[in-house]
Amino acid sequence: MDAAVLWFRRDLRLGDHPALAAAAERSHRVVALFVLDEVLLRPAGAPRRGFLARCLRALDHDLGGRLLVVRGDPARVVPSVAARVGARSVHVSADTGPYGRERDAAVERALAEAGVEFDRTGSPYAVTPGRVVNAQGEPYQMFSAFYRAWLNRGWREPATSDPSEVDWFDPSEVDVERAAVAEPPADGLPAAGERAALRQWETFLDERIDHYDRDRDRPDLAGTSRLSAALHWGCVHPRTLLHDLAAHSGSGAAAFRAELAWREFFADVLWHRSEVARRNYDRRYDHYQHDTGEDADARFTAWASGRTGYPLIDAGMRQLLAEGWMHNRVRMVVASFLVKDLHLPWWRGARHFLRHLVDADLASNQMNWQWVAGSGTDAAPYFRVFNPTTQAERFDPNGDYVRRWVPELRAVPGKRAHTPWLLPAGPPTGYPPPIVDHAEERRVALGRFSALKAVA
Ligand code: FAD
Repeated sequence: MDAAVLWFRRDLRLGDHPALAAAAERSHRVVALFVLDEVLLRPAGAPRRGFLARCLRALDHDLGGRLLVVRGDPARVVPSVAARVGARSVHVSADTGPYGRERDAAVERALAEAGVEFDRTGSPYAVTPGRVVNAQGEPYQMFSAFYRAWLNRGWREPATSDPSEVDWFDPSEVDVERAAVAEPPADGLPAAGERAALRQWETFLDERIDHYDRDRDRPDLAGTSRLSAALHWGCVHPRTLLHDLAAHSGSGAAAFRAELAWREFFADVLWHRSEVARRNYDRRYDHYQHDTGEDADARFTAWASGRTGYPLIDAGMRQLLAEGWMHNRVRMVVASFLVKDLHLPWWRGARHFLRHLVDADLASNQMNWQWVAGSGTDAAPYFRVFNPTTQAERFDPNGDYVRRWVPELRAVPGKRAHTPWLLPAGPPTGYPPPIVDHAEERRVALGRFSALKAVA
């Protein structure tokens, strides 16, 4: 029987793994390969690289030390590994992102020259992007319609994939230069790998799913699953989560299912229009007037370093730098602040997020940014400008979240921490006054939006 290569990418697990099942069906002798591709990792900062390193170590452990990690261009590395072991097929979960599609086409061409088959089975989504279409065969542009069609279409049950059926190559048997997986930093990162993700999911189902719809907007509570990084790297597949959710009937489970659907919707949008990773989905926004120059750069720096004088914004941006994660409600508010209060383009903020988020995901990140900016599909209407103070008072009612991340405000009790400029002595030492006046900047943003309508 021929050998096969199972090339892991965003599917760093062994359970519910259709590509693993396909490789095992094809061959008893399989190489488990991961390629460290600098092109893909270039935008990633230390936390994201650290999390990936932990996922790879966990996968290697679960494979009994059989994960072969090689650095380089996949179009060169994958055919070379296949040739060294005499593989007739390379198995992957489909990558539907813009870079992944191009890369895979190049790998497929190179393999075809050597007569090796490139086999895509499954994807990181319950329903592979591109498959949910309307009666005319077109993609949906509104989430609500996509969501209905996605639910109606349904998804497969989790796949049976048994790694013990396979005789994995020992990496030392493959004559290629192996890459060392960097030692991840000791702390500050979420637990990584399949087992950790499944444990986290079980705890969430036991303790939080029933209140998820109520608590998910509260950054001061641990109300969400924090599975985004694990979902991005495929330590757990959304189909596994959807399968388990079916046993929970409440509104919490329904709300969680809808959030998973947002992830699928944005991947679908990017699959159909890959250019929206960089450009406005709604091209009218190409005419929107952004601020540029030194002042604008200084405002960006204040935002990115958590020194705007608006506590909720600063808490979120500091949480991002410290933990590589930020609560969804806070992501929306800081994104709105960058675009509508500081008049800076969404892609500057999106790039900063991609660098620092452990869960950085091109589809979810760019499309959420565009949603907030107003330029995306299904976007929040432009006139909905988040007020950073009322949002803080509503979703962090006692000020606990901002005090956790902004130590300068630790002595300010209750929700007064949200308005330090109103304290009798002004903001505490070391904490800046607001860099802009929200009400004034809101007027400016709405004025520029009206100019945009005139263009349209
Ligand atoms: P939970 O509330 O437990 O949700 C469960 C899962 O559903 C998440 O893990 C995620 O996979 C998915 N999900 C939830 N909300 C969304 C959403 N709005 N859009 C798409 N999927 C969602 N999410 C990323 O995974 N990567 C990103 O790079 C990213 N960038 C974002 C940028 C902005 C400006 C905004 C507003 C949101 C962004 N999100 C991103 C979506 C969301 O904030 C995170 O998925 C969520 O905060 C992750 O925490 P959690 O796993 O505890 O979420």
